[in-house]
Amino acid sequence: MKTIRTAAVIGSGVMGAGIAAHLANSGLNVLLLDIVPERLTPDDEASGKSLADRSVRNRLAGDALTRLSHASPAAFFDDSCAGRIKPGNVEDDFAALSGVDWIIEAITEKLDVKKQLLTRIEAVWSPGTVVSSNTSGISIEAMAEAIAGPMKAFFLGAHFFNPPRYMQLVELIPGSSTNEAVVAAMKTFLERRLGKGVVVAKDTPNFIANRIGTYGLLATMNIMEAGGYTVGEIDAVTGPALGRPKSATFRTLDLVGLDTFIHVANNVAERTDDAAEKLAFAVPDRLADMVRRGWLGEKSGQGFYKKV
Ligand code: NAD
Repeated sequence: MKTIRTAAVIGSGVMGAGIAAHLANSGLNVLLLDIVPERLTPDDEASGKSLADRSVRNRLAGDALTRLSHASPAAFFDDSCAGRIKPGNVEDDFAALSGVDWIIEAITEKLDVKKQLLTRIEAVWSPGTVVSSNTSGISIEAMAEAIAGPMKAFFLGAHFFNPPRYMQLVELIPGSSTNEAVVAAMKTFLERRLGKGVVVAKDTPNFIANRIGTYGLLATMNIMEAGGYTVGEIDAVTGPALGRPKSATFRTLDLVGLDTFIHVANNVAERTDDAAEKLAFAVPDRLADMVRRGWLGEKSGQGFYKKV
């Protein structure tokens, strides 16, 4: 395995951006990639830009950097850290992945899109590069089916929590082909260099933390509906009143992203044969309706709360 000095994070959304910031805070140079936007914004049109312009093609990762610089709580230790992140896109910059020491997949929580990306990564992969997925609970084994060659030994789950700078836990999830030395080296790197607390988890649906956390959040929502409680009441009793710094329920769901949360609940509902568990992980209609309306939480400006 290569000594890790540089990394690429693919997906510059809620988690990818935050992970990139944490790596930059720890002294790593980071390439942050996202897809190329399909449309121009009114501002682009007003300034005569086209879809061929590099600034337009890098917009999603560029916007993520702007968001990180204004994040509260702060994503960066100080301003110099932001300079270690280079924004790019997966069409123009994919070949650059062959030159980094660690590739982190942090794209949408869907098995098929993650598998397509892994196949593309394998085509540019250079031996010794670790490839990890930030999946919340998709099977690492199922994802590894997309990899044909020796990259399989260097692929594992490395699941950061939100927000990555502040949450200490990282779950490491080896697949059956992951080299044990890679798992051990990543555990040491995450603990000593990134200051994380690592738990090695089995490749079960949603691993450990999200199996418990998603169950609890869904149960809380169902109790709210059945009892006729309000979002504010539930947040009041699951937040500071329990000694937690912030509400553990709806404000947390807004931070996670409601679309992502639905995928994570489905990770269990779709893979269990246990009827009671299927029911416990079923997505409430109210949540599905919100996502259909585009209410995705903080990232869209509206979730259970409106961002002001
Ligand atoms: P998100 O929806 O905020 O961001 C996903 C990003 O990936 C988007 O910017 C999208 O444009 C980009 N993307 C999609 N397909 C792509 C592709 N083929 N190539 C490049 N970029 C692509 O999602 P998120 O919340 O950041 O979640 C990312 C991953 O992290 C998921 O697997 C999720 O389950 C996991 N995760 C999320 C949280 C959380 O709190 N949101 C916590 C831990 C883990």
